[in-house]
Order: sequence, then structure tokens, then C-alpha cells
Amino acid sequence: MNPKRMSEQELLDSLDIALRDDHIFPYYQPQINHSTGRMVGAEALMRWKNPDFGIQYPSDFIPVLEQNDLLYRADVHMFDAVCRFLKKCIENNFPIMPISVNMSRYDIYKHEYVDEIEALRLKYNVPVKYLRIEITESAAIGGMDLMMDVINRLHKCGYLVEMDDFGSGYSSLNILKDLNVDIIKLDMKFLSGEVGGRGGIILNSVVQMAKWLGTPIITEGVETMEQADYMRSLGCNYIQGYLYCKPLPEEEFIEKIQKVEHEAISPAMEFVKAVSSGNFWNPASLETLIFNNLVGAAAIFTYREGEMEILRVNKKYLREIGMNMTEKEVVRIRPWDSFDGLNRNIFERTVKKAIDSGNEETCETWRNVCSKCCGDDKICVRTEMRVIGFARDQYLVYAIVHNITKEKNAYLALFDSERRFRFASEQANVYAWEYTVSTKQMRPCFRCMRDLNLPPLLENYPEPAIEMGIFPPDYADMYRDWHRQIEQGVPHLEAIIPLTVGRIPFHVRYTTEFDENGRPLKAYGSATLVIDKKK
Ligand code: C2E
Ligand code: CA
Ligand code: CA
Repeated sequence: MNPKRMSEQELLDSLDIALRDDHIFPYYQPQINHSTGRMVGAEALMRWKNPDFGIQYPSDFIPVLEQNDLLYRADVHMFDAVCRFLKKCIENNFPIMPISVNMSRYDIYKHEYVDEIEALRLKYNVPVKYLRIEITESAAIGGMDLMMDVINRLHKCGYLVEMDDFGSGYSSLNILKDLNVDIIKLDMKFLSGEVGGRGGIILNSVVQMAKWLGTPIITEGVETMEQADYMRSLGCNYIQGYLYCKPLPEEEFIEKIQKVEHEAISPAMEFVKAVSSGNFWNPASLETLIFNNLVGAAAIFTYREGEMEILRVNKKYLREIGMNMTEKEVVRIRPWDSFDGLNRNIFERTVKKAIDSGNEETCETWRNVCSKCCGDDKICVRTEMRVIGFARDQYLVYAIVHNITKEKNAYLALFDSERRFRFASEQANVYAWEYTVSTKQMRPCFRCMRDLNLPPLLENYPEPAIEMGIFPPDYADMYRDWHRQIEQGVPHLEAIIPLTVGRIPFHVRYTTEFDENGRPLKAYGSATLVIDKKK
């Protein structure tokens, strides 16, 4: 059926039935965090579907209802419908988004509005945190006192209040300071115009003031990626508009909330002076250039009461530990999922240390990664982090990461073989040591250290062993000569030598290790007690 516009009289005549039979009902338009792609809420928008005339749009019927003082009834009906919807979500275990409901500027004059919606909410038993009320800025025409009173009463009941259509005309920035609103809604259509024009000035001052007040901003009417990216470059991530989603009928919205992840709205960030927020998120800015090219593998994440969320990573990060994911994919994963309990503790302790100290703090943690090409794996990451901004209890953290899996595994393997070696030498009554040809350094085994009281590292070997009398004076020159032979590339040496002042006969052996060019690197020495079988 082709929808036909209803005349004023037709609208007025059918209102009662429309309210009774839910011909007036909400569409839901998602509000999205442009940095994470997650949903932060939705706005309920009024639609009227007449059985004979088809769908009618607010621009046609709202002025008619307003002029006849009937919009109030439709608004209360919308609130009722949204409560029913939320109750249904709760009962069906659907993910639940906070829904913003519009309050007309004429509802300000109806003293009973707040009591009436509160009674409905209680009737359906919907927690207040799932409902927000949008009041348009133009309601201030009715007087600031009236508006302040309504906002205060809504706050008393626990509703978040949004200032709708901010910058649309009437008010000045003062209204923001005087009215204690929780969220500001800017409409893209009031902001267009040349840079430095009215739109640009409003935008800049609103964003600055909102940040100063810690009030989050939702930008409406966002139709293009450029607009969304531009808003993000100003630090405003929350977007409502055709770019992400048109207003949806209930069934489609339910499908949507089950597909898209969600998160809570958080206040605008107060950046520490070093990073100017505006430039930082602007893809064309110097800061971004630096972030992408001059620093190592880096990420920006937020931390709030144990919750962590990655906001941005650079290309080097994707190469270093991103395992072939795109930035979008990395930003959407839940970071904690890749940590086990122990490593999460280590990481979180370091974040808290960075928050307390204001300095750079470092930790090494293992993470499970699931890579597109190689399947599941474990990587070890060294993270150097520093807090660069905060808002209330939320912190913005800058992190440089290094994938140190190879080094760590090599170290662990070495540690492991050394442990096994010690164990074997202990069992076999062997004294062992390692001699590095180029540096003349000697590292004794645990047994040597214990029985001969040696330090872990001896320089200028073999002189110390001769001085200490481990190799007696009459064998000193021979032992020195062995080391010259090792240096010249002799692969194997052995002899029976009476060791220490007790002159106890030991079978002393050396085996030389060479590099790929055949140059001697190290020699492994061992001494085993000679057991006289004749005795
Ligand atoms: P609003 O509260 O500013 O709502 C946003 C309007 O922008 C909606 O129009 C929405 O469909 C539209 N919109 C969303 N994304 C885009 C976009 O990317 N580009 C453009 N050009 N427009 C976009 P809609 O649904 O036609 O509502 C128009 C107005 O009617 C609303 O403006 C609001 O003032 C009023 N209204 C809607 N529902 C209610 C209600 O339940 N009660 C009251 N009192 N007024 C309502
Ligand atoms: Ca609105
Ligand atoms: Ca609006």
C-alpha cells in the first residue's frame, strides 16, 4: 500500500484508536561507539501506521498534535510502549540497551509528566538505568526554572537526561552549565557550514565545554564516514545516524541487539597536556603520523574498575602481536579473554602501578592468541605503559608492546637444559664448566661453586684456577697450553690431572664447540674422579 498523508482532521479523528490499538509505536535507532563499533543505546522514534493511510512521519503529525495539545498523550503512550519492549527484552534474556525516549517541549508544562512515566516504569518493573529522557534544547523557551525543575525531578527518580538538538538555535552555552544534563546530543545538520562559521564555532565550543564538564556527546544525523571520523577526531565517538543504521521496527531492532556487542556510555576524556585530544584521533594529524610511524608497536586502551578496552592500535602493533588481524578486529576483541588468571593479575597490577605513579611501568605477560593462519598459540609480550588521560574513574593508557616470545622461549629452554645439566652432573659425580673462547670467561656448574667455593663467573681463565691451587703449579703450564690449543681449534683434549692441594686424580676433558665458519666459540670442560679399580 502506498502511504498517503493524512489531513489534520483525519489525524485528530483517529488518535484515540491509534493510541488504543498501537498504531502509534516506536522505531529504534541504534547509537554506536564509532571507535569500537559497539552499541551504547538507542532512541525511540515515534511512528504512526494508519490501517487506511499507511505510515505517517513525525514531521507530518507531530505539529498537528502539538497545536492541539495532544502530543503529551502520544509521548506517554510511547514511554509505555518502550517499557513494554524493555520488559520483553528482560523476560526473553535479550541483551538490553538503554532506550532514549523523547519528551516534547510542551510536556515541560505538564507537571504530572514525571510522575506518570515513573508510575508506568514501576508498573512494568523496568530498572531505571535502561531509560533516558531526551529534552530538546528549545524547551528552554518555556523558562529555565521550569526546565531545571523537570530535570531535577527526573534525576531524583534516577533517569539520565539528554539535551536534544543542542546548538539548534535558542540557547547559549550557558544552558549547559546551568542545566545538569548527563548527555549532549548534537545534530550534524546544525553543524555544517564553512569552517569558522557558526557550525564550526558551536562545535568547537560545545566539545570543549562538554569535555570540561565530563559530559558525553552523541552526534546525530551522521550519514558519512568522513563526518564520523571528524567527530572522533574531536574526541566524540558516539554516533547516531544512517551511516550505521536507520531507525528500525522492533523485530529488526531485536535482531540487531543480538548481533552487535554493546557497552556503556562513558564521559569524555580529559587528556593530559602532552596529547591534544583533537589531533590525536584525526587520521591526518601529526600525532597520528607519529603514532603510526615513529613509535614502535603501540596501543591505546581504557581501564576502569578491572575492565579494559582497546581503542586504537597502530600498524606495527598489528604486525607485532596482532596475528594478521585488522585494526577493527583487534579493537573489537575482549582483551582479557587472551589472559589466564595469573597473567591478568600481573598486567592489571602494572596498570594500577602506572595509574598511581604517573610513570612508565613495564610487565611481561603470556597471552593466548588465535591467529588466522597458524591457529592457537601462546605469545609473551613485554608492555611498557603510561597513563595519558582520565575521566572520573576511567583511565586512558598508552602502551608500547614487544613480542618477546622467541627470547623468552630460548631463555626457558636454556634454563631447562641448565637445570637438567646440573641434575645430571650431581648424579654422575661430574664437575663441569663452560669456557668462552673470545672473552676468556668461565662459568662453573653448581657443584664446582659449592665444593670449590667458586663465583658464578671467572674472568681471564684459567689463571684464577691456577692461583687458587685447583690446578697445581706443576700442571699450570700444561693447562694454559690447553686453552691456547682450544683457541687454535683443537676439538678435544683430555688427561688425568691431580687436582687441588689434595692432588686427587681426576679425568679432565674438554670438548670445543665451533660456529658455522669453524671458529671455536666455547669449550665444555668436565672433571670426573678416577676410581682406581685395582684398589
Ligand atoms: P529528533 O529527536 O532530533 O530525532 C532524530 C531524527 O533524525 C529522526 O527523525 C531520525 O529518523 C532522523 N535521523 C536519524 N539519522 C539520520 C541521518 O543520518 N540523517 C538524517 N537526515 N536524519 C536522520 P524522525 O524519526 O522523523 O523524527 C523527527 C523528529 O520528531 C524528532 O527529531 C523529534 O523531534 C520528533 N519526535 C520523534 N519521535 C518523537 C516522540 O516520541 N516524541 C516527541 N515529542 N517527539 C518525537
Ligand atoms: Ca530526539
Ligand atoms: Ca535530535
